[in-house]
Amino acid sequence: MNGKPRALIIYTGGTIGMVKDSFTGSLMPVNFERLIANVPEIAKLDIELDIHTFEPTIDSSNVSPEHWIRLVEVIESNYDRYDGFVILHGSDTMAYSASAISFMVENLSKPIIFTGSQLPIGVLRTDARENFITALEIAVTKEFGRPKVSEVCIYFEYHLLKGNRTTKFSSSHFNAFTSANYPFLAEAGVQIQFNDPMLRIYNGKPTRFYKKLDSNIAILKVFPGMSQAYVKTILGISGLRAVVLETFGSGNAPTDDWFIHEIQTAINAGIIVLNVTQCLSGTVMQGKYKTSTQLGNIGVLSGEDITTEAAVTKLMFLLGNSDDAQLIKEQLAKPLREEFTLNNWE
Ligand code: ASP
Repeated sequence: MNGKPRALIIYTGGTIGMVKDSFTGSLMPVNFERLIANVPEIAKLDIELDIHTFEPTIDSSNVSPEHWIRLVEVIESNYDRYDGFVILHGSDTMAYSASAISFMVENLSKPIIFTGSQLPIGVLRTDARENFITALEIAVTKEFGRPKVSEVCIYFEYHLLKGNRTTKFSSSHFNAFTSANYPFLAEAGVQIQFNDPMLRIYNGKPTRFYKKLDSNIAILKVFPGMSQAYVKTILGISGLRAVVLETFGSGNAPTDDWFIHEIQTAINAGIIVLNVTQCLSGTVMQGKYKTSTQLGNIGVLSGEDITTEAAVTKLMFLLGNSDDAQLIKEQLAKPLREEFTLNNWE
């Protein structure tokens, strides 16, 4: 590639490109031309930009595995033509989408940056302009002739975060995302300061794109007072292949016989159960407390410090690409895209 750096903007929707419907007062997505007209500064960037717009653009609460497959198709068919990709996406499910894409693209050699905003781009106090412009700058940043970033990230409110480590934690602050178990990858101040030791280094292997996902999974969130019927109903979903068990603290759950029995029955029936903490930060440590020892003993797998978003999409990815339960379990026990920290607390 010669000349100006090139970036492909993939516009999927989200608040960034929404306007208020004068009739209902609700925010609705608009087309890219209207969106970009609000950021004339973009023309000053020395970047050759192309746009791919999803039809229709969506509020990200409507995102589905089909959208993720479409995203991967667009990235794959344009991969060699661009230095980097910026995906404009609603913030509500951005962490799910960034996690999903991180699994669906293996040996990534360039940046895929998700961004969006809390206020529409046309609003005076919008956070969209800075998010959009800096995401574009990062998407074409090179060092020694190679992309500085070669991973799926989220850029929001002056921070670049590792996509599959990120969770949306605020619906009202501009600073909407956190990656509590992973340091940020860059901070934008007067300059964009990269956190070099935390950046993934491209391994030189050919990039691979995966387009199969299986969503026969469920999230079982434990809570004090949950009934056996609740647990049984979720674990009894027809076709269910895996469950993200959202537990308390460091992976703890009630020790009632009926609860252990229901989980055990599901595991015996071939359902994979992955233990993920409800806490925003910290890790699962099965066996630290008596309230998690049995889970480990009956074959519940530890998700360590993985986010629910990454656990859900990793399971969809693994189940979509294999029927071999043993292999899937092995893949769950190791980080495939640095999505969790292998801890050796024992
Ligand atoms: N509901 C919006 C969406 O996720 C919120 C946002 O964009 O921040 O599409």
